[in-house]
Amino acid sequence: MSKPAAEWMLHPMAPSLNPPRHLVECRVCRDFSAPEPDASDADLWATSHAEATDHQDFRFAAIDYVRASRMRRILPDQADDVG
Ligand SMILES: [Zn+2]
Repeated sequence: MSKPAAEWMLHPMAPSLNPPRHLVECRVCRDFSAPEPDASDADLWATSHAEATDHQDFRFAAIDYVRASRMRRILPDQADDVG
């Protein structure tokens, strides 16, 4: 894996506008649910999938949204402006 660029930072996006999503994947056939804001939808998908296929092993994941932004470089002649 390459080293990330030092001048970039990741910021969480507003949860009210970008709520985390939950999904579940079947470990037998790799089918997976749609990412949904409500974790109980992933639970329901897993139990429905188990009922339909008899597949019984799953893994759950949560997706958080972030935004990358470039950090401003502070030049030596601007250093006095920083509070
Ligand atoms: Zn399956």
